[in-house]
Amino acid sequence: MKRAIYPGTFDPITYGHLNILTKATDLFDDIVLAVANVTSKNTLFTTDERYELCKNTIQHVSKVRVEKFDGLAIRFAEEMEAKTIIRGLRAVSDFEYELQLSLMNKNLNPNIETIFLLPDSMYLYLSSSMVRQIVGLGGNLKSYIPFCVEEAIIEKLQNKNN
Ligand code: ADP
Repeated sequence: MKRAIYPGTFDPITYGHLNILTKATDLFDDIVLAVANVTSKNTLFTTDERYELCKNTIQHVSKVRVEKFDGLAIRFAEEMEAKTIIRGLRAVSDFEYELQLSLMNKNLNPNIETIFLLPDSMYLYLSSSMVRQIVGLGGNLKSYIPFCVEEAIIEKLQNKNN
């Protein structure tokens, strides 16, 4: 049984994340999409909201389940008995950060590998932060996020402004 975790903030999940996950289902038997319970980042959505949006988005993808985790992703991988951490690589700008993170994880546990998957080109410049901004300004992003995510962003920003 080849198990991997795909950790991230997912604030919110986009079709870029889903693209990486779908590719990963060809390589692994069991994938845990791991939603970080972050306190250091100012997220738009709470951990529970991010978790629910991920669950809704991946419900038709077999072999994938969603969990929340606290603390280090590498510890969560150990807890899940996963041998691999999946990360997505977009433009060059991701590379240095992702390299640092994977080397740090390698120091913490040399038995767990990080693998990087490239998204299809239409998702190369897609990020959660851009999605939050564009939807917030009234833009339509239906090729990049599911309807439930678009609705959730609009509702969240309306509540913030009231
Ligand atoms: P984090 O805060 O851990 O970077 P994110 O939710 O932003 O969490 O991203 C999780 C992972 O998914 C990261 O490896 C990131 O590079 C990758 N990712 C995010 N958006 C895309 C995308 N459009 N295409 C490919 N990978 C992506």
